[in-house]
Amino acid sequence: MKTWSWGNIPVAEHRLLPLTWSDSAPDFSRAEGPFLAYGYGRSYGDVPVNDGGALLQTSSLNRVLSFDRDSGVLHCEAGTSLQDILSFCVPAGWFLPVTPGTQFVSLGGAVANDVHGKNHHCAGTFGCHVLGFDLVRSNGETMWCSLTENKPLFAATIGGLGLTGLILTVKLQLKKIVSNLVDVENIPFANLAQGLDLFKQYNASTYSVAWIDCIAGGSALGRGIFSYGEHSERRSITTPANRQVSVPFNFPSFALNKYSVRAFNEVYYKKGCMGTPGIQQSYYEPFFYPLDKLLKWNRIYGKKGFYQYQCVVPFGDNDEGAAAIEKMLTLISHSGNASFLAVLKVFGDKQSPGILSFPMKGITLALDFSNRGARTLALFSELDKIVINNGGRVYPAKDARMSADAFSRFFPQWQEFEQYIDDQFSSSFWRRVTEGLK
Ligand SMILES: Cc1cc2nc3c(=O)[nH]c(=O)nc-3n(C[C@H](O)[C@H](O)[C@H](O)COP(=O)(O)OP(=O)(O)OC[C@H]3O[C@@H](n4cnc5c(N)ncnc54)[C@H](O)[C@@H]3O)c2cc1C
Repeated sequence: MKTWSWGNIPVAEHRLLPLTWSDSAPDFSRAEGPFLAYGYGRSYGDVPVNDGGALLQTSSLNRVLSFDRDSGVLHCEAGTSLQDILSFCVPAGWFLPVTPGTQFVSLGGAVANDVHGKNHHCAGTFGCHVLGFDLVRSNGETMWCSLTENKPLFAATIGGLGLTGLILTVKLQLKKIVSNLVDVENIPFANLAQGLDLFKQYNASTYSVAWIDCIAGGSALGRGIFSYGEHSERRSITTPANRQVSVPFNFPSFALNKYSVRAFNEVYYKKGCMGTPGIQQSYYEPFFYPLDKLLKWNRIYGKKGFYQYQCVVPFGDNDEGAAAIEKMLTLISHSGNASFLAVLKVFGDKQSPGILSFPMKGITLALDFSNRGARTLALFSELDKIVINNGGRVYPAKDARMSADAFSRFFPQWQEFEQYIDDQFSSSFWRRVTEGLK
């Protein structure tokens, strides 16, 4: 059967092995490998892809095993989605300690990519809040992994891209909230330097992120809208109706071009400049998951699919890294190939337990690009060079094309990690980025 990831690159042939509720660990030892767990396919590239192999579909492993309303400790099967967790935790006064920009993600996927959110500078990654998990290895053994039990496998599996085995259950420490609202302020900025200053100024705020107009050049290079937020102290009595619409079909590839993106960016930036100043209250979903309102929005990029490029470069008190981001934005702006989804965040120095985790103290830039073949790939190679020269790295969860050489420079710790891989597990990503390295 053909399955794919969020960017629709690559489309691959798999044997699907759906896993269902059971009180004993799933036995896939008699099936043909190599195996790879699959959550909701919200990774953009080929980390959840296993061309020619077997995908262990986890979405039906979605039981809540325990939830302590006093301590906020939650234990669920690994296919449980963040959306399902929020549906009962928020009314009980608890929230995810870290959340990515979509709630259509499984707990197992969140651990395996060690995802980050708008609060990395104060909370670190998802893995920093995981108390433990059950890991099923291909020999049938189930191991409880935590900071005190099977610690090396705990560290290898957090950010381990599904290669150490199947995560069956996850125990997570949630974060206390009193409201389903978030206090938010949006502040426009005229260029990159101003945007970075805002991140510094609002460093004490729990959540911060910026949208960037990646088409604007010259003195407006890196202009955008900065948003920061806190969980509100005021409760909303009503829960807004969840109105989601779906993109019904793949758009033709000419629909997204530099003119339509330029027009969108111009309007979006101007609208941000004219917005009501000061703190506004927002229900948590539009703040954390603005894209989830439009289901299957990846179809906007058409049948050829799209790439996301997300990198991080070190950024500290002396603004090192700012020049690298400026260089990348200049290249992207001249290429005329970027989309309206360009996001900037600042990561803090809280260390993840994960060996292969992506975040490091620095600035992270994420952008979507329509797949225009060799032209797009050539741009990424140039961006990679800047990232390598600045001691940064590119995010595997968003990648479908980084070279083995670039991977080994971004993640020199891959050799330390490799010893923990289950030899019956593999992915298209891993085969691609380690080809020729061993
Ligand atoms: C709109 C959007 C916004 C996003 N925003 C962010 C963001 O802000 N920050 C961020 O970090 N990421 C972000 N992402 C990426 C997304 O959060 C991650 O790719 C996430 O890991 C996807 O989870 P999934 O359940 O879909 O896993 P999949 O994509 O299906 O799989 C991801 C990896 O997890 C492994 N895996 C899945 N389940 C298990 C399991 N049970 N056991 C072992 N391994 C498993 C897979 O083998 C694969 O390697 C975003 C994605 C989208 C589409």
